[in-house]
Amino acid sequence: MTYLPQIAFLAILAVAGFMLFGRIRQIRKNILLGRSIDRSDRKSERWKTMLLVAFGQRKMFKRFIPAFFHFFIYAGFLIINLEVLEFVLDGILGTHRLFAPLLGSIYGVAINFFEFLALAVLVACVVFLIRRNILRVPRFTKPEMKGWPALDGNLILVIESILMLAILTMNATDQLLQEQMPEPYHQTGNLYISSVLIPLFDGMSTGTLVVVERFAWWFHIIGILAFAIYVTYSKHLHIFMAFPNTWYSNLNAKGKFENMETVTNEVKMMLGIQSDQAAPPAEVGRFGAKDVVDLSWKNLMDAYACTECGRCTSECPANITGKKLSPRKIMMDTRDRVEEYGSFLAKGGEPGTDGKSLLGDHISKEEINACTTCNACTEACPVNIDPLNIIVQMRQYVAMEESGSPASWNTMFSNIENNFAPWKFPPSDRFKWADELKQEPSND
Ligand code: SF4
Ligand code: SF4
Repeated sequence: MTYLPQIAFLAILAVAGFMLFGRIRQIRKNILLGRSIDRSDRKSERWKTMLLVAFGQRKMFKRFIPAFFHFFIYAGFLIINLEVLEFVLDGILGTHRLFAPLLGSIYGVAINFFEFLALAVLVACVVFLIRRNILRVPRFTKPEMKGWPALDGNLILVIESILMLAILTMNATDQLLQEQMPEPYHQTGNLYISSVLIPLFDGMSTGTLVVVERFAWWFHIIGILAFAIYVTYSKHLHIFMAFPNTWYSNLNAKGKFENMETVTNEVKMMLGIQSDQAAPPAEVGRFGAKDVVDLSWKNLMDAYACTECGRCTSECPANITGKKLSPRKIMMDTRDRVEEYGSFLAKGGEPGTDGKSLLGDHISKEEINACTTCNACTEACPVNIDPLNIIVQMRQYVAMEESGSPASWNTMFSNIENNFAPWKFPPSDRFKWADELKQEPSND
């Protein structure tokens, strides 16, 4: 019977691990639905970008107040999770505070530090809940933030707050039990923050204290395992995805557009120029992107890394002037679509037969046409996401495969094709204005 908690813990750990592994495998498969691009060059620059942007939160600090509170949640997540290692080992081995006898007085110092972080996380979560729900910061109230995205944002803050309260409750009752049952409740020294909660439990019988302490322990560890699975369905996946996503950032100068390889090769063939490709492809791929499979795996990774913070949308001139475009929505739609298509395939669907697509079913032409290609969204994004790249690929599809761009754009395209400039004048007339100036009588 004494092994029952260990057996229960191992069973919970196995189920959580199985679910988590399945979900990670599905997300990886979904990202790899995208076409290939090479982002393995300039490795030292990539490590530096990841360390500065993801680990160092550099772009977050452009807005100090949210960055300050976010930093506590981030540091709390990274550091308090060290304590989870002890939770897991205690659960497997049937011990209690395994590291306490090994670390001696250092253990008390470490737990006090974790408690400080737990309190900081709690305060940050409350501040963020107030900003979202009472102050109603505009970027959290845009149309794409209705329903599940708003609930998701609130849920995670509430869950984190409850998990932090569970740690503090566990430590408060543990301190009372240390006096009454020296075994297995090891001395930790005074734990300053949870001590504040002791009056709530003072006077309870030893048995009740053990029940409360054990309940808080189980609640915390099961909560963390459930949180880990939930995160894979939530925008909070950015906790993990921010790191690879910044490593694979686009390191080219913002605004630099890549030539479309398919078009370059076609033009070279027309002009009789030797193509870099050994042989022309059997089937010419789609020009631009209509669906997630036409985007690159990095575009799809971007979608999974999006924190839905709305910094891109709040900087977007199209959105500010009331246009339908929101770069955050572009990323949310891309993620929704890749999840939808990935689960269609996972259920045995034939590729390309679900009758839906990213452009049309999720994103409208009105949205992509509103983009000024200013790059403000990519500059603002704290995890180096590039919504513009997706917008441009969809525009290329509309222009080249559907000839569906607005009439004024089509005129501009044909002018560029025929006159090498957006205007209707032939190249031979381009300096006419200068020649006319020369002929004007001088006032001197
Ligand atoms: S590039 Fe387009 S989507 Fe991004 S901020 Fe500028 S207008 Fe908005
Ligand atoms: S694309 Fe970047 S800036 Fe925009 S919502 Fe997502 S994480 Fe925030």
